[in-house]
Amino acid sequence: MKRIEHIGIAVKDIEAAIPLYENLLNTSCYKIEDVATQGVKTAFFKIGENKIELLAATRPDSPIAKFIEKHGEGIHHYAFLVDDIQAEIERLKSEGFVLINEQPVPGADNMEIAFLHPKSTLGNLIELCQAKK
Ligand code: ZN
Repeated sequence: MKRIEHIGIAVKDIEAAIPLYENLLNTSCYKIEDVATQGVKTAFFKIGENKIELLAATRPDSPIAKFIEKHGEGIHHYAFLVDDIQAEIERLKSEGFVLINEQPVPGADNMEIAFLHPKSTLGNLIELCQAKK
């Protein structure tokens, strides 16, 4: 893994959260994107070479809606940048980690992504991401 690519934060109201994070980070949101397959709306902020991703549910059965129901708003996942996501998935599987996505799926912001199951990472939802070629 190369570095932390972004931290994902679950929010209830993304329209309210965007200006709040713009003020907090003193930078403008550079991208708002719907990821229909995940039932989420995302908003991205750059801080140096790292990013903050806000995530809000776009439907009641969205994983973000379920997360907020259970845990409230807050940090939802940590994303690590990798060079070869398929190789990293295979490596983690061979180390005994449980993958939610055994094949990469399209993510926001031009990334191929895969999630690890929090039950194998001490309760943290970890995302692998590789820039789309
Ligand atoms: Zn993410």
